[in-house]
Amino acid sequence: MNYKLLDNILEMEGYVPGEQPQGGDYVKLNTNENPYPPSTAVYEAIAEEFRRLRLYPQPMSNPLREAAAEILGFDREWILAGNGSDDLLMMFAQAFLSEERFACAPVPTYTLYRTLAQIQNSKLIEVPFAEGYELPAAELQASGAVLAFLANPNSPTGTMVPPDKIADFARAFPGFVLLDEAYADFADANCLHLVKEYANIGVMRTFSKSYALAGLRVGLLFARPEFIEQLAKVKDSYNLDRLAIVGAAAALRDRDHFNEITSLIKGTRGLLTEELTKRGFDVLPSQSNFVMVKAPEPPGAKAVYLGLKERKVLVRYFEQEMPDHLRITVGTDVEVEALLTQLDEVLKGGK
Ligand SMILES: *Cc1c(COP(=O)(O)O)cnc(C)c1O
Repeated sequence: MNYKLLDNILEMEGYVPGEQPQGGDYVKLNTNENPYPPSTAVYEAIAEEFRRLRLYPQPMSNPLREAAAEILGFDREWILAGNGSDDLLMMFAQAFLSEERFACAPVPTYTLYRTLAQIQNSKLIEVPFAEGYELPAAELQASGAVLAFLANPNSPTGTMVPPDKIADFARAFPGFVLLDEAYADFADANCLHLVKEYANIGVMRTFSKSYALAGLRVGLLFARPEFIEQLAKVKDSYNLDRLAIVGAAAALRDRDHFNEITSLIKGTRGLLTEELTKRGFDVLPSQSNFVMVKAPEPPGAKAVYLGLKERKVLVRYFEQEMPDHLRITVGTDVEVEALLTQLDEVLKGGK
């Protein structure tokens, strides 16, 4: 078989998303989706927009940029919308990376960064986090990379590097620092203000977690207007559809709903942390909508993952990156109860 595909494509593995079972009645705590429904304003905006689907969307997603500018305190020229933050990440890979130029990231982290580098026939220099999941700043700075991917709060660990440490890093890093703040709305601090201070910082947000819109596919990048203008050259011409543009704008404007569901999740996170600790799990301090836990041994993380799955509770197991740990999304209180009930069975060794 010879399709004349590029060698780097033939050799790469491809990104493996978390399991998305269709049906099967799982308590789904494996891909950090929001357990609550999105704002009802989203449904209304989408229903209204339906009648305009005949027409192409606004190419820069301006109605959404304007809502984001208003709510988050930027001019719209500082904002670029993506079809999920994964689309923005792809634009970064296309605009920065080639066979001679590479990216770096502290690991373990979001494995899509590596996949995107490989698509460009580039690579990701992976530097292990320092003790206590602190940033391995010196090694990243010395890596020669033109782009640093920093998920902050990080996934899969849930840990966070404080903004002053990020600022120190950006001052010394010779390339562009992309802060992937997918989980920032669950954290005590964030780095959005650094965009205004540092020309080499971009901050990315997603609607997939805190706005409960993973299925709509919307992300935003905040950076200097002259940078946004360059990056926009590589985007798909109509990268967000009409429904996504108005739906995300409506979600942003409903602050009450956003505040309600994010506080519920932060509350349940505390409860989940406490209950897992009681059961012998070591819980990493979480600034996100999931907890990363070291499982007691026996039975060990893999056995707990498999036992829970058999009992229709899905959590995430990273066999390569963190084989002693499990990542558990913060669900509703009812889902967390179900998890704990099934977990007690697994820990007892019962069937
Ligand atoms: C969930 C997640 C994203 C979100 O991606 P979308 O494409 O916006 O759904 C981005 N980065 C990290 C680290 C994530 O965990």
